[in-house]
Order: sequence, then structure tokens, then C-alpha cells
Amino acid sequence: MQGQDVKRQYDHLFELLKEHQKWISESITLIASENVPSPAVREAILSDFGNRYAEGWPGERVYAGCKYIDQVEIAAQNLGKELFGAEFVDVRPIAGVNSNLVIYTAFTDPGDRILSLSIPNGGHITYGKKELGGTAGAVHGLVVENIPFDDEEMNIDVDRTKQKIESMIKEGKKPKMIVFGGSVFLFPHPLKELSDYLKSNEILTMYDGAHVLGLIAGGQFQDPLREGADFMTGSTHKTMPGPQGGIVVSFNKFSDKIKGSVFPSNTSNHHLHHMAAKAVVFAEMLAFGKDYATNVIRNAQSLAEALSARGLKVIGGRNGFTESHQVLVDVTAQGGGWGVERELEDANIILNRNMIPSDIKEGRHFKDPGGIRMGTQELTRLGMGRSEMEYIGDLIYRTVVKKDDHERIRSEISALKRKFPKVSYAFDNQQDAYSYITLRK
Ligand SMILES: *Cc1c(COP(=O)(O)O)cnc(C)c1O
Repeated sequence: MQGQDVKRQYDHLFELLKEHQKWISESITLIASENVPSPAVREAILSDFGNRYAEGWPGERVYAGCKYIDQVEIAAQNLGKELFGAEFVDVRPIAGVNSNLVIYTAFTDPGDRILSLSIPNGGHITYGKKELGGTAGAVHGLVVENIPFDDEEMNIDVDRTKQKIESMIKEGKKPKMIVFGGSVFLFPHPLKELSDYLKSNEILTMYDGAHVLGLIAGGQFQDPLREGADFMTGSTHKTMPGPQGGIVVSFNKFSDKIKGSVFPSNTSNHHLHHMAAKAVVFAEMLAFGKDYATNVIRNAQSLAEALSARGLKVIGGRNGFTESHQVLVDVTAQGGGWGVERELEDANIILNRNMIPSDIKEGRHFKDPGGIRMGTQELTRLGMGRSEMEYIGDLIYRTVVKKDDHERIRSEISALKRKFPKVSYAFDNQQDAYSYITLRK
């Protein structure tokens, strides 16, 4: 490759980064697992922490050069403990997947059984079966059985779950652990209802809060550690509007096993810039989390109502559609999730196709599932409220059902987004939410 070509490709990379950022700034961002961090979080991510190593625990590092890093990590732990009312917090896992693997490694052995939700019922691939390439099965060798689910209630079926565990015990196949949580997560899971039963049978309880961590931090969803969970794992970039990363929250009695499973088993370098940014977002959530989480959930309910009022088939209607950031819609009547996702993306409405409980029975699969999934956390963070949700519901309806001209939808969205340039629920917001930061020249 000629020097000039290399420079052209190098320059092109930055053009693509900028184009992406401009596009996002002009779009309705509804992917339920994403968020926009504050300028403060972005500043921490840009710091020199991102170039350093600090394996191990603060004060017991394998590397020199950690005197400030240790202080920041201890602050992150303390802020996290305060935020979740927890005895023990480990901020080193570098992703939600990594956090789940930390728990599997610490508390299960290959060949053990676990219970978790299937993917069409909202389960995540990290607790999937080996045949599906799931982390639990394929990486840690666990045998995965599914938790019985009630499609109408869109929640775990408590009685059938107990019956299933009873029969597993009778067959000598008692599960070691049950995993609550999921990627479709409309309503709090029945931890309280199952906790005594699980404890009396000595079954460990893991709660995967990847999606709902910010809602839990704001005190607006459920309180897993008080409701019976032994450990909560999560991602720090979904409803928790922080850096991409993971976390494990638990009790002192489990801390040694978790610490050892994080390092040396499942991390070496733990991405210190993201660790620092976790401390920043925890402080923001302690100050603003209650308001933020309350508004995220209100906005999800408003969006669900707006879509339902326009004839779209919003799932979970029996229980008011949602008590989280998510809205799930059955779009089989509109041609299925794949086509609807593509059409909306062309109109600058970005969300994802998703499996719904009826998919497997009706012969659909993950490439073209029956549903679409949305989350209101990012738009809420920009300060949007009920009337904007109503309007966005209408934009989706006009795109998918009325087949309005995409160019027109895009220009309306651009005008709407210009009214909400900043991140709310943060101490500082000098830079616009989607400003592109240049350091090169
Ligand atoms: C996103 C997600 C994960 C994985 O998190 P990453 O941070 O992407 O690794 C784990 N569990 C659930 C339920 C998720 O939705």
C-alpha cells in the first residue's frame, strides 16, 4: 500500500466516525441497550487511565503506577455500594458478559445445571444452551434448563417454576443456580415470591440487571439484593448511562470468590478509563438517578400508549405494557421485525428487531422475528417527555403503517432533535450530547 493511500484511508476513518455521530445526532435512538453518556463520563474515558495497567485489587496490584488509579477505584466501589445499598461491589468486569462469566466461574462447575429464561422469552445468550452458542453452555459447560414463562403476563410463572424445580430435584438434577433477568424485561421478576423456596432448596440466585441497572440505581424497578438475589450483575451502559462495561454487586460473604473470579480468572487489564467513568456515572446517579429513572419509565409507558392508540400491537397490555424502559411490539401484521427495523432505520428511527414469545411456536427465528424492541432511556436523558413520546409514536406509525415519505420524517426528526441538544441528569453539560471531540489538530 502506498503512503498516500494509507493517509487517505486514515483520513477516511475519521470521516466515518464524524458521519456516524452526525447521523446519531439527527436520529431517534431507541435501542434498548444503549445510552448517551454525559460529557463528564466522556472526559474520564479520554483520560490517561485508558493507557495503563492495574491488575488485581486496589492496594494489591500486580503493577506499579497505581497510586491515583487505586483511589479512583476505591471511590468507584464506595459510590457503587452507596448507590445499590450493597456490601460488596466489583467494578472491574469489562462487560455484562464478563460479569456473568465471573459468577458462573465463582459459583458453578462445568456440568452443573442452571435455570434461566429462553431467548424468545427475553433471556440473554450469556445464559443460553451450548447448542445455541450460549456463554453458560458453550464457554462454562453448564447444562441450561428454561424457566417457565407466562406469555400473557410477560413474566416468570412462579407456580410452574416451583413444579419444574421439584421434578428436577426428584430426577436428581437439582439446579445449582437460577438466573433472573433478561434482555426483554418489561416487568420486575418475581424474586420475592420465589426467594424462600429457592433458599430452602439451597439454589443460588443470580440477578442479571444488565438492562435495568439504571432503573434499580434510581430505586424505580425492583431491589434484587433485598428481594433474595445473592448476586446482581450488570452492564454500565444500558439504562445506567455510563461507559461500556460491567459490574458485580453482592454481599461480603461472597466477596472473596467474586474477587478471585474477576482476577485472575476472567480479566487481566480491566480498562481503567471505563472504571473511572463508572465512578463518575455512579455519582451522577446518586444525585439525579431517581428523577431520571422515574422519567424513563413514564416515557416508556407514554410511548407504548401512543403506539397502541394507533393500532400497533404492543405486548404486555394486560399489565399496562411496561414498568421498565422497554416497549415491545408485535409487528407480524406489518411484515415482521426485520423489514420494520430496516424501514425505520431508513427514516432515522433506530431500534432493533426482537424475538417475542410466540415466535418459535409460529416458526419465526431471530433473523426475522415477530417483534421490535424499544427503550426510552437515551431520549429521556436528552430531556424528552410525554409529548415527545406521543410525537415519536406517531412518527413510527407514519413510517410503518401510513408509509409516509422518509425524507419528510427525517427532517421532522432533525428539527425535534435540535430542541434537545444536551444531556440532562448530570452535574456538567457544557458539550452537546453528540458533539464530536477532536484532539488531532
Ligand atoms: C446486554 C446484556 C448482557 C451483556 O452485556 P454486555 O455489556 O453487552 O457484555 C448480559 N445480559 C443481558 C440480559 C443483556 O441484555
